[in-house]
Amino acid sequence: MNIETKKVSISEVFGSNVFNEAMMKERLPKEIYKSLRKTLYEGAPLNSTLAEVVATAMKDWAIEKGATHFTHWFQPLTGITAEKHDAFISPTADGKVILEFSGKELIKGEPDASSFPSGGLRATFEARGYTAWDCTSPAFIKDDTLCIPTAFCSYTGEALDKKTPLLRSMEAISRQAIRVLKLFGNTTATKVITTVGPEQEYFLIDKGMYNKRKDLIFTGRTLFGARPPKGQELEDHYFGTLKERVSAFMKELDEELWKLGVSAKTKHNEVAPSQHELAPIFSTTNIATDHKQLTLEMMKKIASRHGLVCLLHEKPFAGVNGSGKHNNWSMGTDDGQNLLDPGHTPHENAQFLVFLCAVIKAVDEYADLLRASAATPGNDHRLGANEAPPAIISIFLGEQLEDILEQIENNGGAKNSKQGGFLKIGVSTLPDLPKDSTDRNRTSPFAFTGNKFEFRMVGSSASIAEPNCILNTIVAEELGQIADRLEDAKDFETEVQKILKEITKNHKRIIFNGNNYSNEWELEAGKRGLPNIRSTVEAITTYISEKNIRLIEKHNILSRAETRARYEIALENYIKTINIEALTMLEIAKRQILPTAINYTGRMADVVNSLKATGLPVDSSAQNELLMEVSALAASFKKNISALETALDKTSNSHGDTFKQACMYRDEVFLAMEILRQDGDKLEVIIDAELWPMPTYGEMLFNV
Ligand code: ADP
Ligand code: MG
Repeated sequence: MNIETKKVSISEVFGSNVFNEAMMKERLPKEIYKSLRKTLYEGAPLNSTLAEVVATAMKDWAIEKGATHFTHWFQPLTGITAEKHDAFISPTADGKVILEFSGKELIKGEPDASSFPSGGLRATFEARGYTAWDCTSPAFIKDDTLCIPTAFCSYTGEALDKKTPLLRSMEAISRQAIRVLKLFGNTTATKVITTVGPEQEYFLIDKGMYNKRKDLIFTGRTLFGARPPKGQELEDHYFGTLKERVSAFMKELDEELWKLGVSAKTKHNEVAPSQHELAPIFSTTNIATDHKQLTLEMMKKIASRHGLVCLLHEKPFAGVNGSGKHNNWSMGTDDGQNLLDPGHTPHENAQFLVFLCAVIKAVDEYADLLRASAATPGNDHRLGANEAPPAIISIFLGEQLEDILEQIENNGGAKNSKQGGFLKIGVSTLPDLPKDSTDRNRTSPFAFTGNKFEFRMVGSSASIAEPNCILNTIVAEELGQIADRLEDAKDFETEVQKILKEITKNHKRIIFNGNNYSNEWELEAGKRGLPNIRSTVEAITTYISEKNIRLIEKHNILSRAETRARYEIALENYIKTINIEALTMLEIAKRQILPTAINYTGRMADVVNSLKATGLPVDSSAQNELLMEVSALAASFKKNISALETALDKTSNSHGDTFKQACMYRDEVFLAMEILRQDGDKLEVIIDAELWPMPTYGEMLFNV
């Protein structure tokens, strides 16, 4: 990577718009800084004197940086971030203003929240929600506004956002992991932190073309569009040289993200034409989630400055690879140990295997929940649609690790790869584990990659809050169960062995090292009893199964009512999304494609007539055939427009059971949309290019 930007160095730019720890240390009185650190790292309560001093320092810093406003920045259940800007000004008696920002304003905000989804949690008469400062994620300046990361709750205390359950899940996993670590004799770690490095895929297309596509504007994906003559088959885009315009965009994006303290590191072209990827260096889950939201926002904003539009939808183009994000996840101690890193000693290796097996058991027992955490209508086009990764969750471990687990299951121990011979598994006698298995499986939805797991199902437009919240919670549950057993065990080593053996035996069905895209795997997974949950509607239903509600309640992540509310919101979101897509499709079909087809047949009829009128023996079979073909397609297209209208009417008027309605959208409306698209795409490839009312795939994908 180019370390030097235009004039300033990365180290000067990085974090320059963030009120980070270095800034706090510089600007806060020593004692205050010390107490704030206590709050940050030990969860000590935040008192009002402390907040007052921090607020003033924050305000002074922000004003020096040119900020005029502040906002509580939060992540409501819409999936995007929300902000309401307030100026720093306060009127004085003499008609002037002073710049003010109190501790109270830092700690708590009261946005009118009646228009945010609450899934029925907040009755409309209680419109206010409140936001509370999350001091574990640093404040930053964006658009001359001091942004304070906050959690968002209803007045009665229910979580109305994505951050609150995520923070709770981080506490849950830390609590259980520390119990296990203590049993392994660790006396120094006080906290276990989950870390995430989310890779992000996206498309860049020309803004002028985007503006001519109603489907992209209203839905983020193309609802019509024939395959271009060239797609991604030559794989000549992957890691290819960056085009100038793209490179300029990426450079500016990097710089803007660095200013915000987002450690954007890797950038390259992806497999599909016009598709790219950005990966940051991993950080604490909470901060990684905030940074992810900022990254998505910046991508859109900066693309616009370059005459481009950044498409974050999971499947903007049919027949072309979609976009996801790879959620690289691990857990580490506050004294610097990565718990998913095989160690150097047998003792460390035994501990590693316990944490690894906790993840294996968690993913097997809660595959449905993990799948649900990645479920969005957009992602339905990727998962289970013959494209990476499938809707079936399985774990890739790599051959060596799988072999070790197999031996543990069969013999209770494993061969020592270096010294040969057979070793009984025990804390003191575990063989060396392979360090970084070089084989990578790019088709696995949940792959072990040496010292972390890569959850590859998450969609490109999604927040990573939910998947990580679920991951943390399910692993917390398993670590808790393991800790329960080990705490009661007579002989620690024997019990460790027993646990590893049991988990391997009972949960090996989730491990699969082969090609996840193959049909054989789908069959095999069925035999193994692994769930294959194809659509969002089915996936989110698992949120409210008794087993899952209980788990989430048990670890204080969400109450029963809160979970129920989230399910309702997800269901409604599904319905609204498909409804908007269907309406957009009808608009394009009726007002753009059908008129074009009619126009074209009219022209062709004129040509046929004028040829006839010449009285010459001209061969007009081409014109005749084209006229017949387009007319027939137009008739079929018109019929299918009516069919979609009927399906949509019936579905949108079916009040009552939201779940049933969502199923109707999935089965009837969606199907009618697919059928309508087929005729539309056929028309596109025979009608005169000059007449076609919108840019084609070829034009959009190969233009930038
Ligand atoms: P790939 O080979 O999948 O392209 P890399 O090895 O470059 O990926 O890493 C991908 C991501 O994984 C990066 O964002 C990186 O910061 C992140 N990562 C590395 N170590 C960890 C960890 N311990 N916890 C979470 N994420 C991590
Ligand atoms: Mg990756």
